Amino acid sequence: MQKIPSMLIVISGPSGAGKSTLRSMLLKNHPELVYSVSYTTRKPRNGEINGVDYYFITKDKFEEMISQNEFLEYANVYGNYYGTSKKFVDEALSSGKPIILEVDVQGAESIIKLYPQCCSIFIRPSSIELLIERFVKRGTEDLQDQKKRIEEIKKELVKEKLFSYIVINDNLTDAYKSFENAIFSYAQRLNKNGGYR
Ligand code: 5GP
Repeated sequence: MQKIPSMLIVISGPSGAGKSTLRSMLLKNHPELVYSVSYTTRKPRNGEINGVDYYFITKDKFEEMISQNEFLEYANVYGNYYGTSKKFVDEALSSGKPIILEVDVQGAESIIKLYPQCCSIFIRPSSIELLIERFVKRGTEDLQDQKKRIEEIKKELVKEKLFSYIVINDNLTDAYKSFENAIFSYAQRLNKNGGYR
């Protein structure tokens, strides 16, 4: 299988769009790729593992990390903090490894500003109704959180034009193909323009 070259990939999109599923599939097929595990103050959901899904930390610890300038970007998403480790991303990029970040739309905007050459991919289903239905079915949030998230989803969809690619995820197999294709076609573009760094 073709290997992903050194590059920064940022994926984003509304809740329930299937970002984590596509990201896990990509990581499974591409062991050369590293995933930046985010820090969060959100409580772990059933089955989530500290250090694998997220680093679950307290609000005090998160705020201490902000003051120490340890985040490349961070955002308050639905009342919880989420942040990307600056050290981890810098080390991966300087060692020439391809790295993938999965962040909310505010986080993606910050990363795109910091790394205009990153491969930014927005993932969403073809219709907002489908998105809301899928997200509600997931059932990981209580009703109040669901309402907050649906309002956010509507705002997030407006931002898709900031991204290099949009991947429509109605069918997982097709979405995975376009996801991988987007990454390789971006890698080719970078190659023509003299590489990532
Ligand atoms: P969840 O609570 O469903 O795991 O994540 C909520 C949102 O936070 C998702 O859109 C997810 O992609 C985003 N997120 C996860 N990690 C980070 C991060 O490090 N930074 C930012 N800005 N958003 C993140």
